[in-house]
Amino acid sequence: MTSISSLDIIQRENRDFKKVGIMGGTFDPIHYGHLVIAEQIRCEYQLDKIIFVPAGNPPHKLDADVSNSKHRYFMTLLATVTNPFFEVSKIEMEEDEISYTIHTLTKLKKIFSEDVQLFFITGADAICDIENWKDVEVLVTMCDFIAATRPGLESPNLEEKIQQLQHKYNSSIRKMDVPALAISSTDIRCRVREGQSIKYLLPESVEYYIYKHGLYR
Ligand code: ATP
Ligand code: MG
Repeated sequence: MTSISSLDIIQRENRDFKKVGIMGGTFDPIHYGHLVIAEQIRCEYQLDKIIFVPAGNPPHKLDADVSNSKHRYFMTLLATVTNPFFEVSKIEMEEDEISYTIHTLTKLKKIFSEDVQLFFITGADAICDIENWKDVEVLVTMCDFIAATRPGLESPNLEEKIQQLQHKYNSSIRKMDVPALAISSTDIRCRVREGQSIKYLLPESVEYYIYKHGLYR
């Protein structure tokens, strides 16, 4: 993709960011679960920006039927455009390689100056799986992590897991209780395939985008 990425804009504007949240995901499609945790964490931690990073080629979904990255990028843009604190980055979409979070964080850390504190935002299911992520021992020391609770997919011993990770890797991982939204992209794709309503699970603009482009049929 050749158009200007939102990160280029951030760099050009050279705004005085101190705390930036990074929200990674496949976003196939983005839904209110993602948006609620991002907004709640932004407010709670007084973040200057949240950057949504749609996964290019997610390593855990290589065999899965993931939608074209352009569609996922556009849906993420549509969903976030009304929030002045949200940006979308193409950083993982500009390459054909598998997108590992450690590579993305390394690139982002180079973009922001050293005094910018980065917070990587995940759901509880992702943090419980993080030891399977590439170079986890380095990854979890690169920035602060915030794990949002997630109904249905939450490990019963999330707090224990977080403590164990902090102790093992000397990392900063915080748990964040967010209003429970039992929404998942998997369920939304399934509903579309079966002709069921997806209204109120995700922004209307994204709903219309899905129908317009015949996604998930
Ligand atoms: P899929 O079902 O395709 O895996 P998903 O709904 O889990 O999709 P992802 O794009 O995989 O969405 O998730 C991106 C991040 O958002 C992950 O860290 C995930 O844990 C978190 N997340 C997704 N949905 C929720 C939710 N309803 N509540 C809290 N966290 C969520
Ligand atoms: Mg998921």
